[in-house]
Amino acid sequence: MKLFFCGVRGSTPAPGQPYVRFGGHTSCVAVAHDGAAPSLVLDGGTGLANLDRLLGEAPFDGTILLGHLHWDHTHGLPFFAGGARPGHRVQVLMPGQGAPAEQVLARAFSPPHFPVEPSALGAGWSFEAIEEGEHRVEGFSVLAREIPHKGGRTFGFRVTGGGASLAYLSDHHPLALGPGPAGVGELHQAAMDLAAGVDLLIHDAQYTAAELPELAYLGHSCAEYAIGLAEAAGARRVCLFHHAPRRTDSELEALAGRFAGWPVPVVAAADGMTVTLDGQYGHRARPK
Ligand SMILES: [Zn+2]
Ligand SMILES: [Zn+2]
Repeated sequence: MKLFFCGVRGSTPAPGQPYVRFGGHTSCVAVAHDGAAPSLVLDGGTGLANLDRLLGEAPFDGTILLGHLHWDHTHGLPFFAGGARPGHRVQVLMPGQGAPAEQVLARAFSPPHFPVEPSALGAGWSFEAIEEGEHRVEGFSVLAREIPHKGGRTFGFRVTGGGASLAYLSDHHPLALGPGPAGVGELHQAAMDLAAGVDLLIHDAQYTAAELPELAYLGHSCAEYAIGLAEAAGARRVCLFHHAPRRTDSELEALAGRFAGWPVPVVAAADGMTVTLDGQYGHRARPK
């Protein structure tokens, strides 16, 4: 399994010189089977522009799995050139929100908010709501679990394929369920299930623990929680993701540097970063 980090910001894009190294596109991670083009995309933020670069002139043939429907996770959809080329097939899956998926998406993608409705994106586009549980998507096993966030039902995902696994919790507000052992959020069952023994945990790190008291009401998590969850659930590596839009390159380097030498390796996600997961380390048992 190979991952391409196409967009790593939360909330809004972050263009400009202070953000060049880690990049400014919003959430989008493309997943490919070994040796194949990406066929599973986690979220459709503006980072889909980077997936276009990966695809070259080829049409996209696969699924875009939306964890939730906030702007920073959907704004790339109507600008996705790979989803407009002849031969495209784009299946969009999203958490059920009590109405047909296309109708829910059209609330944001229709005049006067935006000129193009989902039905006009292309003949090969389809939209479907999913529920919690195990799904088979593009040859990957996908476990979907509802996780606390703010403003709309949100899923975290665990993706397994080719003997490797990742967990993706891009927007997560575990403090909503209690302080947990470190005071930065509950290590609740859904998060533990998603992260248990994965090769890579990609997790909301919009804030730091120091910022959390003032900013937790916005529905996000901190880097310290992500690392604590990885340790508790036996995840092998942590990728800090969904960076605050005004967190500069030097601030992100300093944040990741604080966790150098940690028992669980920590990296800050960057646009253009690729990660190959081969499951070579096997399953790390969850500490008792
Ligand atoms: Zn977000
Ligand atoms: Zn969100």
